[in-house]
Amino acid sequence: MNAELSAIELSIKEREDFIATKGKQKKQLRCDAESIAGCVSQRACVFCGARVVLNPITDAIHLIHGPIGCASYTWDIRGSLSSGTELYRNSFSTDLKEQDVIFGGEKKLARAIDELVAAYHAKLIFVYSTCIVGVIGDDIEAVCRAAMVRHHIKVIPVQSSGFIGNKSAGYRAACDSLLSLIHTEKKISKKPKSVNYLGDFNLAGEAWIIRDYLARIGVTVSTVFTGDASYEELKTAPAASLNIIQCAGSMAYLAKQMEELYHIPYLRISFLGIEDTAVTLRNIAEYFEDPEMQQKVEILIEEESRKVTDELSFYRKKLEGKKAAVYVGGGFKAISLIKQFREIGMEVVMVGTQTGQPDDYDTINGLVTEGTVVLDDANPAELEKFMIEQGANLLVGGVKERPLAYKLGVAFVDHNHERKHPLSGFVGAVNFAREVYSTVCSPVWRSIQMKTPWGE
Ligand code: SF4
Repeated sequence: MNAELSAIELSIKEREDFIATKGKQKKQLRCDAESIAGCVSQRACVFCGARVVLNPITDAIHLIHGPIGCASYTWDIRGSLSSGTELYRNSFSTDLKEQDVIFGGEKKLARAIDELVAAYHAKLIFVYSTCIVGVIGDDIEAVCRAAMVRHHIKVIPVQSSGFIGNKSAGYRAACDSLLSLIHTEKKISKKPKSVNYLGDFNLAGEAWIIRDYLARIGVTVSTVFTGDASYEELKTAPAASLNIIQCAGSMAYLAKQMEELYHIPYLRISFLGIEDTAVTLRNIAEYFEDPEMQQKVEILIEEESRKVTDELSFYRKKLEGKKAAVYVGGGFKAISLIKQFREIGMEVVMVGTQTGQPDDYDTINGLVTEGTVVLDDANPAELEKFMIEQGANLLVGGVKERPLAYKLGVAFVDHNHERKHPLSGFVGAVNFAREVYSTVCSPVWRSIQMKTPWGE
């Protein structure tokens, strides 16, 4: 590759404001904006944003009103785990066809709801709108209202048709549906020392690990939004005394609304990595102003750290000096990953997100070293280019990023919805380090001849 081409020169002109190199450009990175047309953004669509937030609700029927392709996008590729029913693993679709696009799909949707109620006897149905529904203008709210009257169950429309924005708009649509689900006019008696845990989707059992930590320090988890959640449990959310938010990108809006409606304050936290997990537990105990809880937190941190220290030092020795590239959904995860890589002796040389906010990028900029490329809403060509230019040994991302790394002969770690082992808490930190070690230090990379997309 021509080394003289700067980071910006190979990217599309309109993308310049979304890419910065720490220490080289003084301008504020542009983010939280629509994707540039024609850039083949790595961002997922509005419907996908809504679906990833709501799908872990285990006893709900998730009905996608749209062409069959939209339903297949998320069919059983998520690792969110259930301690009870597996109903949520089914992906139902109205399978809209040409005739429905011409004459409207409302009747078909009403029939699909009736069939599903008869077959599964669920108390809760989410009906997702997709791109084509936004185009033809089906009134899914009216269909859902009528179905609720017919069946005496909750049928909640999710306004996630494609043209209302990007994945962030899908998060917001999902949060609006959750607010309508937990809405109550009754007087609420608050449960002391209880929290709602927002933005953990129990992909590989993380929510269970955090429930255990919190139980050990005397905090009850009322409900998790939405990992391993059920309809009845979600309805108890307004009684919690605190909301803690892991994935702020998807859940900050819900937390702000719940503060206004139910007077529940919130804390932004992170259970990714040893450092952030310890800080989070201390912050929760500090919030409750309970000296006994603070003592329990210190005991837990001591016990859990002791279990993982030796293994982590082993990985640190092997990984010291290696370079990582990070491209993930939200800002909170990117921030925690930068710290987590430091814990195992690695430097992050490229970092980007699909839906990061300006304050996320300010924090990222403060954490990374000079020369690190920071980019928002990237496309495959940019990710490949910067991985090569920055000499990354590893890419952390999701299913869409995996092939980009492998075809460049770069190691890869999945930190998204398809992974199979938990990455939260102390146990998660060691799982993460083990996976980074096994992929970065795999002998397979020695057998691969590096080829860039530019043929060099
Ligand atoms: S909702 Fe639109 S962008 Fe999303 S999968 Fe369906 S057609 Fe594609």
